[in-house]
Amino acid sequence: MSRPHTPREPCRCTDGQRAAARILERRKARHAALNAYISEQGGWLTSIAGDPLMRFEAPHASNLAEDLHGKGYVVTPVGSTTRIDPHATATITLTEVYET
Ligand SMILES: [Zn+2]
Repeated sequence: MSRPHTPREPCRCTDGQRAAARILERRKARHAALNAYISEQGGWLTSIAGDPLMRFEAPHASNLAEDLHGKGYVVTPVGSTTRIDPHATATITLTEVYET
């Protein structure tokens, strides 16, 4: 995709560029919504806004993966690690979330 133009420049985007821009906007909106929900539920969304594949981390005992699966997301566990934060260390589950 070519450099996006500013709102003041005339739009010479192709249909393909417009479609790609709409997809990116939807991914960013989904990322923002999931980010809010996941952090509300005690997890961390760690992927970059706009990436088709989203990744989150959740506390080991969390049912967040099942929860998101129940909401229609394709959820794939990809391992576990220890999250280091200033207050505590906790074992967390690394999970990938695909858009459906
Ligand atoms: Zn345009």
